[in-house]
Amino acid sequence: MKWAIIGTWRMCLEGIAAATEILGLGGDSGDAVEEAVKAVEDYPLYKSVGYGGLPNEICQVELDAAFMDGDTLSFGAVGGIQDFKNPVSIARRLSRERFNIFLVGSGAEDYAHKNGFERKNMLTERAKKIWEKRVREISENNLSPYDGHDTVGIVCLDLKGHMTAATSTSGLFMKKRGRIGDSPICGSGLYVDSKIGGAVATGLGEDIMKGCLSYEVVRLMESGMSPQEAAQNAVYSFSEKLKQRRGKVGAISIVCLNNMGEWGVGTNVEFSFVVASQKSLPKVFLAHPHQDKVVYEEASKEWLEAYQRRITQPV
Ligand code: ASP
Repeated sequence: MKWAIIGTWRMCLEGIAAATEILGLGGDSGDAVEEAVKAVEDYPLYKSVGYGGLPNEICQVELDAAFMDGDTLSFGAVGGIQDFKNPVSIARRLSRERFNIFLVGSGAEDYAHKNGFERKNMLTERAKKIWEKRVREISENNLSPYDGHDTVGIVCLDLKGHMTAATSTSGLFMKKRGRIGDSPICGSGLYVDSKIGGAVATGLGEDIMKGCLSYEVVRLMESGMSPQEAAQNAVYSFSEKLKQRRGKVGAISIVCLNNMGEWGVGTNVEFSFVVASQKSLPKVFLAHPHQDKVVYEEASKEWLEAYQRRITQPV
């Protein structure tokens, strides 16, 4: 048995690096995935997850997160939670409950408070400035308010063959109060079964949830497809279906991992992701849709430097 871990977007690089230390020492995949997601939630410059996440239309940071255990199929999630430091840890705790495993809004906050989770004002000055700027842009130029969203989603396999998956996001920038995307929804934003593999999604939640896409990828792996075939197939065939039925489709990207540590990526937009395994240090890859396939390559030094400049540039 070997360990492996994969996550959505460049933002999970440091978290995945921290998780590899746990996995390399024979640690549990649940602990590794939680640490990886917490690192993203805690970093203020990642503006679509946790602290520093972009607010809703009335400038409140409402966060969604979920955790799933592939051995027991235990699942827990929070939606629209405000002012708690690590939504993913609350979701993991909920996954151990028999009932009431998915809590939203003030109910989720009460649960977190009663169970001793750390409170924190999750709105940073920088996120507030970006919000103020967007309000101006919308009124001046009629811009789409919703640009600016991404989810950290991670699937992990440990040395004992235990698989887990977790997601965390502030959802769509400028979303309506109470809006919840695919990320905390079992089967849409994430799914994992240690006997098969796991998948996590990022992109327009309103579209991803129409196809239950993470479950679909796991089901395709179960039917015998490789992770790459499963991710690619699920994203392309569902994107095509939505185009035919609705005339349009939003961004959809998926990463997946099977229980042998093989991974795959499916996307209908340019997308970055991070992979590490026993054999290879954490690496950032870029994926692009190309005809009916996804092509990917390791991110160049120039790309990584440009990313760093972009996330630190003044608002
Ligand atoms: N899927 C997330 C949502 O709709 C956002 C994203 O991953 O870009 O809330």
